[in-house]
Amino acid sequence: MCEFCLKHGEGRKWYLQAQNYSEDLLSDGRRREFIGQFFREPRSLKKNTRRLEALDRAPKQVRDMVIRAVSRRQKKVHFGQVLPIEDVGRILEFTNSVVRVECICRHVTLGKEKRYCYGVSMGPNGGRMAEILRGLDGSFLNGPNTAGLESITREEALGAMRDHEREGLCHTVWTFHTPFIGGICNCDRSDCLAMRTTVTHGVPVMFRAETIASVDPDLCTGCRQCMRVCQFGAVAYSAADRKARIDHRWCYGCGVCRSQCAKGAIRLESRSSVPAAAKLW
Ligand code: SF4
Ligand code: SF4
Repeated sequence: MCEFCLKHGEGRKWYLQAQNYSEDLLSDGRRREFIGQFFREPRSLKKNTRRLEALDRAPKQVRDMVIRAVSRRQKKVHFGQVLPIEDVGRILEFTNSVVRVECICRHVTLGKEKRYCYGVSMGPNGGRMAEILRGLDGSFLNGPNTAGLESITREEALGAMRDHEREGLCHTVWTFHTPFIGGICNCDRSDCLAMRTTVTHGVPVMFRAETIASVDPDLCTGCRQCMRVCQFGAVAYSAADRKARIDHRWCYGCGVCRSQCAKGAIRLESRSSVPAAAKLW
């Protein structure tokens, strides 16, 4: 279990307990303000990418200190975790409304509109994330009328996220003032700033999944489709054996490789059941 499960989930998957505290959203003005700020100021994300590049060049001692401080702060305000598609489905089961929005990361990194992000509301009254986003005057959301907001059903959201997984994108859940959950995103290492920050620059702003993947060598035919999609470089190929293997030290447990395996050779299991990975977050 990750530290959020212990702190916010009473030892269970924290994001599956989200409906217990989600209703707090509107009563906490700071959280609303934070969400507004997040969507209003994509330019600040661009600044962060330059800071990360500078951090890569910093002396180790400074770097370690900054990494600890950034990660500690992000855990309080905006932190993510990788999710397998099954857990995306479980979150959507208690979600009242879903609104699809343009991905702020791709807005910054590609300058393109890509609707890979889903604002979710879980309070019993429902619809609240959509209301908050509609209240923003953010050019990011295609202008003051926020025409870019698209309300969809939970079933449509799950179907779209399965499609994103087939494209090779990894699902992640995000807090807006932890532990409130405000969104589910679909990330890749090239364009997602959080994934780049965590994996490329080594500054953790998201946890690995509670799951981890393994290959059944008896079923694997060595086609290497799984290698093609792993965003984390966790799949190795043995030319001698003609089999793929997953290095548990690198696996984030997203399950994207599994959806590419026509032989059904990849399974996900609980991270805690694999000693080499149980404490890797
Ligand atoms: S996609 Fe499946 S069959 Fe192909 S190499 Fe990976 S595990 Fe083996
Ligand atoms: S090997 Fe692990 S990290 Fe890579 S795609 Fe599969 S589950 Fe995700």
